[in-house]
Amino acid sequence: MTAIISDPAGERYGFPTYPRGLAPRHLMTRRMLAAAGLRKNNQDPVAQLLFYNRGRLVTAYLYDSTLAAPRRPWTSAKQHAVEKAAASRRFCGTCRATLDYIPRYGECNPCTDSRNTLGRPLEHAAWKTTKTLNSPGSWRVAPQRRSAEGKSPMP
Ligand SMILES: [Zn+2]
Repeated sequence: MTAIISDPAGERYGFPTYPRGLAPRHLMTRRMLAAAGLRKNNQDPVAQLLFYNRGRLVTAYLYDSTLAAPRRPWTSAKQHAVEKAAASRRFCGTCRATLDYIPRYGECNPCTDSRNTLGRPLEHAAWKTTKTLNSPGSWRVAPQRRSAEGKSPMP
């Protein structure tokens, strides 16, 4: 670990850099801006904090708080959009029902259970079973008659 020095011009690190605690007051991370009721307002980072955390070199981007804008208030339209997005996940794509849980594989449990393991509808499998039982032997290919030598007889 080498000590991190203050480098406002970016001569050493290629980008304006400060060690933790030595950045100018008006340069803030996004969390610091949020705590001050601000958002970064679409600006690119103007500098970085560089510090070690558990032996790893960590970067935190700094933004100019004088270019920041007030955070947008949480409106009922925003709330409505979030609820709509959450509700769209509680939806079965097969029977199109609204559910009270987020389904796996995009469909509700009854829809998943109505299929066999081959992904065919269970009704179809039941129909096939019934037909097979009604016509015994149809599921098995009848053995072909062969000559004694195991060759087809010549016509
Ligand atoms: Zn369903």
